[in-house]
Amino acid sequence: AAKEGGGKGYHFYSPEMNLKAHARMEMETNLRHALEREEFFLEFQPIVNARDGRLVGAEALLRWSDPEKGLIMPDMFIQVAEESGFIVPLGEWVLRTACRKMKDWREAGLPPFRISVNVSGRQFCQANFTDTVCSIIRETGMDPSFLALEMTETSLMVDVEATAKALMQLKELDISIVIDDFGAGYSSLGYLQKFPIDRIKIDRSFIRDLSSHANDKAIVEAIIAMAARLKLQVVAEGVETSEQLDFLKEQGCHEIQGFYFHRPLSEELFKTLLWEIKDHPVPLFASPEGET
Ligand code: C2E
Ligand code: MG
Ligand code: MG
Ligand code: MG
Repeated sequence: AAKEGGGKGYHFYSPEMNLKAHARMEMETNLRHALEREEFFLEFQPIVNARDGRLVGAEALLRWSDPEKGLIMPDMFIQVAEESGFIVPLGEWVLRTACRKMKDWREAGLPPFRISVNVSGRQFCQANFTDTVCSIIRETGMDPSFLALEMTETSLMVDVEATAKALMQLKELDISIVIDDFGAGYSSLGYLQKFPIDRIKIDRSFIRDLSSHANDKAIVEAIIAMAARLKLQVVAEGVETSEQLDFLKEQGCHEIQGFYFHRPLSEELFKTLLWEIKDHPVPLFASPEGET
């Protein structure tokens, strides 16, 4: 049993580790209660076309509002949720909630866009993952051509054959596949050919230091050029400055996600934005300074 826990090979116990294990167990219990008590909610971060700033999509991002501790960000709990397996029901909740909202917004007459949902490796590895996705789509009545699933390189590489099969099934449903945090994980470029992938999202770490690190520029340039050759769409995440935006546009990056355009928005603010878009056919947030 000890071996299953960490997978690191060494298992000794110190007071400090016991405390960590204890904190971890407490977190697991809290997560379960939080789901029952409906303390989770989603924020939506717009993804825009790099050329004209028009909204083309949004990423659903999980938040936890703990009555005592306040707002808790996913970096604080996703890992524990993954290791404990709780990410499976939690991820299902995220997917169902995002699909329901999308269906509601479309019914309310709001303009269409792609909604991206993060899927953890642990979730994707479940034998019935595609069945679950299928039944959520049926149950919510959401148009699956508006759904994108974001997965990391590492989670796709666990079982290449099973991944290929599952991705084909998702493609048959008309769902699109995004590789998240591209370049940051365990990469094997060969699978880009093998798997039916629609887009890659360049990891934020490469975007962050674009203006100061020549190497990051070279990497981003190479990723975009490669994606073009493979006919994949490219999204850059974590874009905060006009310098980063200009460089990415110059290189031919298709889509931008980042604080420069929008932070993750509450459902209310996001809906307000959607209504504004509906009422204004002109690009709402074209890049500043009169660029075309
Ligand atoms: P991610 O999927 O790579 O999501 C993008 C993260 O980058 C989000 O952090 C977003 O707020 C942040 N971000 C976007 N633009 C900028 C920017 O310009 N500057 C900076 N500094 N940050 C930016 P967030 O919401 O804290 O989520 C962190 C990670 O937690 C996500 O990274 C994803 O791996 C995980 N996560 C979030 N929601 C879910 C979920 O529903 N399921 C799973 N499995 N993981 C999730
Ligand atoms: Mg993501
Ligand atoms: Mg990412
Ligand atoms: Mg990330």
